Amino acid sequence: MPLVDLQRCEGKGDCVRVCPENVFEIRRIENADYQGLGLFHKFKQRVHGFQVAYTPNVDACRACGLCVAACPERAITLSRATG
Ligand code: SF4
Repeated sequence: MPLVDLQRCEGKGDCVRVCPENVFEIRRIENADYQGLGLFHKFKQRVHGFQVAYTPNVDACRACGLCVAACPERAITLSRATG
């Protein structure tokens, strides 16, 4: 499953475009996630309009790796799903 590092993500949407399974969506960062960021990353969020990638369709991921290669911010890693 893909993990998005919200400290790196700038919501550019390359993952949305390349993912064959429509795993990603770009939307406003959730308040709890925003509050978890440090001051520098909060400022960075403001610069790119608070837009980040979430993975509402994560169960459909087939670990092709296209999103990892496409992300210009190197914000996505693939992790083995647990549980
Ligand atoms: S690894 Fe492939 S299927 Fe999974 S989220 Fe990334 S692009 Fe989509």
